Amino acid sequence: MRMTTVKPGGLKTLHELRQRLAAVQEEMARGPRQIQARKTALKKKQDELEQKRQALKQLKMTADQKNLQLKTNEAKINDLRAKLNSAGSNREYEILTGQIDADTMANSVLEDEILETLSRVDLVQVEVKTAEQDVKAADEALAKTERDVKAAEEGLKQQSTALAAEVAQAETILPPEVVLQYRRIVQSMGPDALSAVENKACGNCRVQLTAQKLIELGSGKIFFCTCGCLLYMPNK
Ligand SMILES: [Zn+2]
Repeated sequence: MRMTTVKPGGLKTLHELRQRLAAVQEEMARGPRQIQARKTALKKKQDELEQKRQALKQLKMTADQKNLQLKTNEAKINDLRAKLNSAGSNREYEILTGQIDADTMANSVLEDEILETLSRVDLVQVEVKTAEQDVKAADEALAKTERDVKAAEEGLKQQSTALAAEVAQAETILPPEVVLQYRRIVQSMGPDALSAVENKACGNCRVQLTAQKLIELGSGKIFFCTCGCLLYMPNK
């Protein structure tokens, strides 16, 4: 059987180039992911701010309603007091006094509630301010990431193109009869399509290699491991 061989060092170079190309491609893919993560973070902060604003609006409405109720009750009490002066009987006087007492008590409770609501308004106002700062920070972080990614984009593209050309050049050492299989493995394993022999085993899947196979690999024979990858001796 004719032995399919490759020149020494060629596969190692090809492997290294493929790894560098994959690293550059990974970095290119990371940019849009980082931008997306920043956008998600910004949206979350915007939602939190909106919730705080709604809560503040609700509290202010509650305070206004209670204030209005207080004013209405005060007017009612004044009314009752006026009637008290013209009470026609003791019975009527007692009833009016009872109503005034009850309404005064109700207003006292209402005043407490208004104070409590106003102090919550103050708290939530502070929370809204904080949330606004958070949105601003998230917005700036997004803008910075977008700038950084954009600034790196052109360089990465150039690196990628240059490395892809180097890879193509390095691949010319592959005998034509293995190219198809090699392409298939690159498709599924990426830069791990090639693997150096480490401690007499496949560096990728760790399967032990026979002495015979090691000799053949050493002489430059093309050999695909059972895991699929293209093996090579690192020191050759
Ligand atoms: Zn293997």
